[in-house]
Amino acid sequence: MNLSYWEIKSWLTDIDFTVIGSGIVGLSCALELRRLYPKANILVLEKGMLPQGASTKNAGFACFGSLSEIIDDLQNHSEDEVLELVSKRIKGLELLRNILGDNAIEYKQHGGYELFLKQDEALFEQCYNQKGSINELLWPLFETNVFSFEDNPFGFENIIERIGYNKFEGQIDTGKMMEALLNKALGSRIKILNNCCVDTVEEGNETVHINTTNFSLKSKKVFVATNGFANQLIEENIKPARAQVLITKPIDKLYIKGTFHLNKGYYYFRNIDDRILFGGGRNLDFKGEETTKFGQTELIQDKLEALLKSTIIPSRDFEIERRWSGIMGVGNQKYPIVKQLSNNVFCGVRLGGMGVAIGSSVGRELADLLE
Ligand SMILES: Cc1cc2nc3c(=O)[nH]c(=O)nc-3n(C[C@H](O)[C@H](O)[C@H](O)COP(=O)(O)OP(=O)(O)OC[C@H]3O[C@@H](n4cnc5c(N)ncnc54)[C@H](O)[C@@H]3O)c2cc1C
Repeated sequence: MNLSYWEIKSWLTDIDFTVIGSGIVGLSCALELRRLYPKANILVLEKGMLPQGASTKNAGFACFGSLSEIIDDLQNHSEDEVLELVSKRIKGLELLRNILGDNAIEYKQHGGYELFLKQDEALFEQCYNQKGSINELLWPLFETNVFSFEDNPFGFENIIERIGYNKFEGQIDTGKMMEALLNKALGSRIKILNNCCVDTVEEGNETVHINTTNFSLKSKKVFVATNGFANQLIEENIKPARAQVLITKPIDKLYIKGTFHLNKGYYYFRNIDDRILFGGGRNLDFKGEETTKFGQTELIQDKLEALLKSTIIPSRDFEIERRWSGIMGVGNQKYPIVKQLSNNVFCGVRLGGMGVAIGSSVGRELADLLE
């Protein structure tokens, strides 16, 4: 790249901290570094025109786990671990709301619901029967019952007529949240370079050499926050997981309000701007969706549309306005990896489907590794 003397001097010289990835984690990490080191020269490198992973693509659920998700987590994790994860998600959401403010992210606590398809009778029974013990487990965090069941208030069809309810669940406007985070970073003298794909990160003598597709630079410390793309730079137990989404055109007098989980959370939908945003279906083709390539498949998109017609808005005419996908980072453990990789390189990755909730605190933890 034909960079000028000025470009190199002002943007690419004497860099203290370089953060790779400008999703929720990368930006939160950069902001925490600024708080800890007011004079530091902080650079964020982002391969997309906008943050191009999951943070600008997600469904905006401000959630800490549906009843079936928590029961499922208890199959693979101890009660203490599950409680800790729920607590992390609650504290992370508080942090996000404190940093950016509820108005800026359009936080609304409309409550969360869990629907059970008629063929999922066994799952419903399990959730219904375990509701009491899960409420007991979560009591230290909420000091009240979190989960209850109520009659189907939104006219959903082909489901069991009792649906799970959690008044503590909320939703945000994902675009506004990321815009606010980017503005905050820019206002905190953090430099963000877009369309910069980092190809390699190499430890040198006291500094880290960063090679991007177009230029190279040196930085004293590097923080990798590339989530689902992490294995392109570092070797950790993390796999990409694509998630597909669609959104309807505005629907007149839309009566559905809240965040909704279906089929153990493999499907999720919510209201936004008089529309339904609906995502999921990765369980139809786990292997095919283990990819860093953005895109949609007929298999999953057809299923989403079919569920809209049969279950979610069966009595309404609707049109699909847009479809997209995002890339998450997942692994065999439902915990993020936040650690030091070598003398001067650190990572905060593998956020799964929880990054709206835990992204800010993972970013903060990542920066705090320096202390
Ligand atoms: C469709 C969908 C729905 C979701 N819904 C929810 C939800 O409702 N609630 C919830 O809590 N979570 C949800 N999630 C998960 C949440 O969005 C993620 O956990 C979170 O955004 C992860 O943030 P991150 O900063 O770790 O990663 P990302 O947002 O993926 O950021 C990583 C960044 O690194 C950049 N990058 C990658 N490689 C390089 C490189 N080599 N050089 C430079 N830059 C690079 C990428 O372009 C990207 O911008 C959803 C995810 C998806 C995809």
